[in-house]
Amino acid sequence: MSHTLQIEVDPFLCATQEREISGELVYEKLQRIQGDIESSSDPIKANLQFSKVGKFVVLTGRISTNLVLQCVACLGSIEFPVDIEVKLAIINDVSQVNLLPDGYEPYLLDGERLSISEVVEDEVVIVLPDFARHEICPIDLPKNSASKDFSLEPDRKKNPFEVLKSLKKH
Ligand SMILES: [Zn+2]
Repeated sequence: MSHTLQIEVDPFLCATQEREISGELVYEKLQRIQGDIESSSDPIKANLQFSKVGKFVVLTGRISTNLVLQCVACLGSIEFPVDIEVKLAIINDVSQVNLLPDGYEPYLLDGERLSISEVVEDEVVIVLPDFARHEICPIDLPKNSASKDFSLEPDRKKNPFEVLKSLKKH
């Protein structure tokens, strides 16, 4: 299963056909979040299903991947697993927001065609942290960014798993 998600579809036609879309989005093809993640990130996998709830076209399914982010403190890698349950109602006018079926988030369609990769990236953006940072950095911070009173030792013992994970990669 290595279909690309870089496709544009007519959501209303897809809903009528109850079309299912599965595929991957590799790092090189990312438009919006490429700058926020490391190139060693896994491809983003998505399995999405169009259908209708009442008058609304809805898109449900899952987006999952294992992203690699860069820690703002030590510049080391942070693994960031992503598993998103997608439950979107496609709207083309903000006035429809109040009429959405229960449990669905609005997705504003701009024009006639829906870009699947844009939907996927938009969903992933929501879960990305503004600044990625280890709870406890696995290596000593550069002296100029660490305060003299700051000690890593007590906290480090609490989280040996993080340390092991980062050691395994090197
Ligand atoms: Zn760090």
